[in-house]
Amino acid sequence: MKQITRFPGCSGWMATLWILGVGLVGCDSITPGTAGPDRTAGADGKPAVVATNTLIADWVARVGGDQIELTSILPPGTDPHVYEPVPADSIAFERADLILYNGYNLEPGLMRLLNAAGVKARRVAVGEVVPPLALQQGGRTVPDPHVWGDASNVIPMVEAIRDQLIELAPEQQELFTTNTEAYREDLNQLHQWIGAQTATIPAHQRQLVTTHDAFQYYAQAYGLTVVGTLIGLSTEEQPSARTVQQLVASIRALGVPTIFAETTINPQLITTVAAEAGVKLAPTLLYSDSIGSPGSEGDSYLKMMESNTRSIVEGLGGSVTPLAP
Ligand SMILES: [Zn+2]
Repeated sequence: MKQITRFPGCSGWMATLWILGVGLVGCDSITPGTAGPDRTAGADGKPAVVATNTLIADWVARVGGDQIELTSILPPGTDPHVYEPVPADSIAFERADLILYNGYNLEPGLMRLLNAAGVKARRVAVGEVVPPLALQQGGRTVPDPHVWGDASNVIPMVEAIRDQLIELAPEQQELFTTNTEAYREDLNQLHQWIGAQTATIPAHQRQLVTTHDAFQYYAQAYGLTVVGTLIGLSTEEQPSARTVQQLVASIRALGVPTIFAETTINPQLITTVAAEAGVKLAPTLLYSDSIGSPGSEGDSYLKMMESNTRSIVEGLGGSVTPLAP
């Protein structure tokens, strides 16, 4: 899988984002040296598929195997809500045969680029095959884009990816179908496992507090309640002092034992909330809108969901049994 690099001067870019309070994970999660002129999508005759984020890229890789030329725009650990495209992203879009994105306004910066002139590839909003939960944002009702929080939602998304790849390379229909069936079994197993783990949490502690509102599908599927979040659906927002105080009060009133930071957002403020509320901050960050960098505990969708579930269940007083390999 190819990865587009950030450039130039990653450290300065990171520092700026941290100052703005929307810090991302470290630059070491970025694969260097693939943004040059040799990054020609589909150069070997295979269909050139571009995935906007790491989750979709992971699913496309599972279905397409080595029969597609896959480019992932966002590096692992990057926040899609605030991502600003770089010139290499335009080139990837222009060279693509197929562009797969989440939709429901998860990636506003990339959508602006996609809607600009020059992008002719077929584009499909993979996340929008799932009926959305409706949430309030700034007085409006909007679709919640974080559909992958319910592992059973990923099955129709992967089937949509399979159908698109078959259309692009019909001669590989059997391979793409077989790969999808195998992955569907993994997803079903994961879905059952998560439900069994969260059921071990004492009923009065099945309460989730995270930095941004990315876990509504997870909570609904696996029997938890989202008590509150520092910021809403999109990380573009900044919490007010009043929001922070209300969240602290809710955590205290409901007896929430542990709250959670996320890999794609600066943990500074949620750490302060935990301290003010007198509760624990889970030692393992949740993977919300991105899988982890290669070699990390959450470097695939299956592993990120396993890691999240382990952290949530242990943090809220349940007990985890290993997910069978
Ligand atoms: Zn999000």
